[in-house]
Amino acid sequence: MRALLQEHMPFASGPLLSTTVCMYTMTPDEDFVIDRHPLHERVVVASPCSGHGFKFAPAIGEAISDLVVEGWTRHDLRRFAANRWNSFPAAPSTTTTTTTTTTTPTAAAPGPA
Ligand SMILES: Cc1cc2nc3c(=O)[nH]c(=O)nc-3n(C[C@H](O)[C@H](O)[C@H](O)COP(=O)(O)OP(=O)(O)OC[C@H]3O[C@@H](n4cnc5c(N)ncnc54)[C@H](O)[C@@H]3O)c2cc1C
Repeated sequence: MRALLQEHMPFASGPLLSTTVCMYTMTPDEDFVIDRHPLHERVVVASPCSGHGFKFAPAIGEAISDLVVEGWTRHDLRRFAANRWNSFPAAPSTTTTTTTTTTTPTAAAPGPA
């Protein structure tokens, strides 16, 4: 690393002044939880965690705002369901703001085309 900095960014290759240990939360499958709260459907839970959430922030933000404002999202969030380890009860099924669409137990209810 030092050699690389010397070659390409010599001004960034100064003396090491301090270090610190940084921790982050980790789910069992190292992915996120993005879902409605299993007991309170009006609460959306998002954990852009496991050390790789930053690069997904725009998409996660869009999905969350979709769920909160519209009641559904075009993003498939089944992979991030809170109950995927069977440690939480499934989120309650809810009727969305549209008259014909009912959400699935996950937050990834397909919306109108
Ligand atoms: C050590 C480490 C390494 C990581 N490496 C990567 C990586 O290489 N690639 C990657 O994509 N992601 C990485 N991540 C994950 C990434 O940092 C997070 O996914 C991302 O920062 C989440 O963004 P966020 O806006 O949800 O939360 P945050 O960035 O945590 O922002 C939350 C903000 O809310 C503020 N806040 C909290 N409580 C309150 C309150 N009560 N009132 C007012 N403000 C409050 C906090 O101060 C903070 O500024 C890493 C995380 C860590 C910890």
